Amino acid sequence: MTYTNKKILVCGMGISGIAAANLLLRHGAAITLCDLNPEPKVDKELLAHPSISTYFGKNPDDILDKHDMLVLSPGIPCDLPFVVAAKAMGMPVWGEVELAYRHSKAPIIGITGTNGKTTVTSLVYDIVKLAHPSSVLVGNIGIPFCDMVETLDESDAFIVAEISSFQLETIDSFAPKISAVLNMTPDHLNRHKTMEAYVEAKERIFKNQGVDDICVLNFTNSYTKAMASKTKAEVIFFNQSTKDELVLPVEDIPIPGNHNLENVLAAIAICKAAGISDHIIRQGIMAFKAVEHRLEFVKELGGVRYYNDSKATNIDSTIKAIQAFNSPIILIAGGQDKDLDFNDLVKYFPENVKRLIAVGETADALIQTCKAHSYFDTEQANTMKDAVHIASLAAKKGDIVLLSPACASYDMFDNFEQRGRVFKGFVHELS
Ligand code: ADP
Repeated sequence: MTYTNKKILVCGMGISGIAAANLLLRHGAAITLCDLNPEPKVDKELLAHPSISTYFGKNPDDILDKHDMLVLSPGIPCDLPFVVAAKAMGMPVWGEVELAYRHSKAPIIGITGTNGKTTVTSLVYDIVKLAHPSSVLVGNIGIPFCDMVETLDESDAFIVAEISSFQLETIDSFAPKISAVLNMTPDHLNRHKTMEAYVEAKERIFKNQGVDDICVLNFTNSYTKAMASKTKAEVIFFNQSTKDELVLPVEDIPIPGNHNLENVLAAIAICKAAGISDHIIRQGIMAFKAVEHRLEFVKELGGVRYYNDSKATNIDSTIKAIQAFNSPIILIAGGQDKDLDFNDLVKYFPENVKRLIAVGETADALIQTCKAHSYFDTEQANTMKDAVHIASLAAKKGDIVLLSPACASYDMFDNFEQRGRVFKGFVHELS
């Protein structure tokens, strides 16, 4: 595929936008890089390339008609006027995943869902790599698909891709050989507006699959169960208790909680669909370690265990986290608001949470919701440092201190990774 003489607008200078621009450059395109930030972080070398021009500090409404195509980063909402206008003009509007797909020759395993994507994608990749060593891991996990797609030895490889709903909004022909929707619970409703729209975005992962493809779905989630009638692909359910093929004893699963058992079942179904033997699947699972910021054990101090679950950025992931332990939990939660309903979370507190330490923009809302449920073991902290300190004072031998915010991190941090690292830093300072 070549883009010679094509003028392409690449919007959003995150890692995937830069990767898309580099791929397009390799194929002869002339590119305008665009970002609302007047000084986005872009390599000097890329900026100096003769086929690159820039349009920084505003949306590209005024220069749309000088371009043949728009490549959009997942962070940019598709209902912005310039995106709507581009579509109305008949311009292709692709995300980085669509662009990479057009250049990929190896079969793709595409994994989406509200929670567990990174865990399942990492586990599947670890297993797949044992059988097909030149396979690659790409997508929402932080490795742009466009960076990897052309370096692949396609003769014996899978592309294992974590795909978010935002990335699915801008696909067109993208069709994985094996797709998986792990689960669906409310999230990102500030962007998708309704649960229906969010579900529709996720369903795009199988919309271009054919009868020779496979779609792996969660049997116990009403949204994903209902997807079975909407795909042409062969459906394989996981989490169907009697029909699940467990290839190892449950006690041997190295990551805690029932939700992780579900994740392992999903990975087994996906890997079997990819033709991988039980023996290799078992080997991959046994060697797997929790991914950083996902119920990650930090340290034990005075009989209190500290866990970092900073990646819990919605209600369901925090519910799963507090249900994964049998010991009393001191929960640090709160962060940036995503229009989620805290009632669904707080109802689990009396049984599972000994004390809530609320932080961030949503601290007030969380504490108010607790009061409405007659749950009064709450406290507010202004900083993560204070939160860790208060939690350490409240914790008794045998307790667990858990950071599992149920909210986004952008009110106080650059991202969930930074939030998790800051938490771990303060935990390590405790003595
Ligand atoms: P994603 O990539 O979809 O955000 P992760 O694997 O990064 O998923 O996990 C995100 C958060 O959700 C973590 O807090 C994790 O403990 C929790 N989680 C993981 N798997 C599940 C699941 N199957 N159901 C609910 N929560 C989950």
